[in-house]
Amino acid sequence: MAQRTMAQQQADALALLAETALHHGIDPGAPAERYQVVVHVDSEVLADAEAPGQSVLEDGAHVPAGTSQRLACDATRVVMRHDPDGRVTEIGARTRTIPPALRRALHHRDRGCRFPGCGIRFTQGHHLRHWAHGGPTTLSNLALLCRRHHRAVHEEGYQVHRQPDGELCFRRPDGRLLPEVPRHPAVPADPFGALRAWHDAQGLDIHARTSMPGWLGERLDVGYAIDVLHPLAG
Ligand SMILES: [Zn+2]
Ligand SMILES: [Zn+2]
Repeated sequence: MAQRTMAQQQADALALLAETALHHGIDPGAPAERYQVVVHVDSEVLADAEAPGQSVLEDGAHVPAGTSQRLACDATRVVMRHDPDGRVTEIGARTRTIPPALRRALHHRDRGCRFPGCGIRFTQGHHLRHWAHGGPTTLSNLALLCRRHHRAVHEEGYQVHRQPDGELCFRRPDGRLLPEVPRHPAVPADPFGALRAWHDAQGLDIHARTSMPGWLGERLDVGYAIDVLHPLAG
């Protein structure tokens, strides 16, 4: 994965601190309203990052179209319609792109970031096919990704799609497949006792000298080694 700049790492660290604080209820305000970033983005830009149109923060700072698409993946959305002169003609109701019930189902299914080997629990919902492209907000079109990997997918050229068998398939920017990493096995409540019991069941007697070699420096006995190793010997 591309090396992050110092500024990016610091921004990620600050965001992680803020998310951790919010998850622990340090500032218990209305859920989902405690912090917000407002991005104004034209629907053409949301559907096609190359299309002409605006993608700006509330204060006018420009936001790359890929970033707008990432933020819009899992956000509160207000659709405004303008006439050709720029006057607002219609403002829709605020809606969550991912309704709460669906989000609960998504968390229950994915549990953490689905990027191979990640599994971080602070996640955002990612539309495999963006809703601006007509992708539905359904479980099969959603996957949980952490902030870092959501950015990798929208802004760094990584690709993810769901295969016909329902499994996710991740690819590097050059198209090479990212192999799925097996999940870590669950650690039992009493790992030492569980390991002891497992050894006992296998008839193994593990003690402080178990890993010491029995070799005392003798020369290799080639005849004996061949006898042991060669299938036709003896
Ligand atoms: Zn996304
Ligand atoms: Zn991740």
